[in-house]
Amino acid sequence: MGEIVYFLRGDPHRAYLNITPKYECTNNCVFCDKQLLEDKVAAKLYLEKAPALDEIIGELKAKADREKVNEFVFCGLGEPLLYMNKVIKVTDYIKKEYQKPVRINTNGQAYTLYPNMNVVKQLEKAGVDSISISLNVTDEESYRRLHKPQTEDAFSHILKFIKNCNSSSMQTTVTFLEFPKLKKDRVLEFTRGLGLKDHQVRFRPFITK
Ligand code: SF4
Repeated sequence: MGEIVYFLRGDPHRAYLNITPKYECTNNCVFCDKQLLEDKVAAKLYLEKAPALDEIIGELKAKADREKVNEFVFCGLGEPLLYMNKVIKVTDYIKKEYQKPVRINTNGQAYTLYPNMNVVKQLEKAGVDSISISLNVTDEESYRRLHKPQTEDAFSHILKFIKNCNSSSMQTTVTFLEFPKLKKDRVLEFTRGLGLKDHQVRFRPFITK
């Protein structure tokens, strides 16, 4: 069984929460190399089954030192918002017990998962401080080609989710992997059109073997 709470290369100041079993995701990205990512973070993240709430809290208690951890981040391998109820309950626990910021790293497809729910409001209400949404491309066709989402209209739902997060109290960041052909100026033009300031866009190195 992989780790539910892990630390990037052992750094105790940021605790990552991996709550998604079997690397479950609404995408099947052509660049998603689980082995490479696990090597990068130096943690085993494959969970055989969805951890129960008390297992998640048990690992938090055992591993997250309240003097050292400055931020908690929901970041699988896999999509954390597939388990939105647990994200909300664990955030609630963190806020009560640690009083530290909580961030979610997501592929931004919550509206395809919960079409009848005000997801942004619920996350805000739970006390989520910031959200980082990986987008990587600026058009639907490229999104489909690279990310192979389960739903046809994923891209438009992500854009709506970004805009609504940005109108909420959550600090919103959109990330782009630095693929060899990425044009950063075009990306910034596109994200400005979504209402984001340039400092809300983060370019991340694209690592290959
Ligand atoms: S969204 Fe992330 S976890 Fe999901 S398939 Fe893509 S890279 Fe992998």
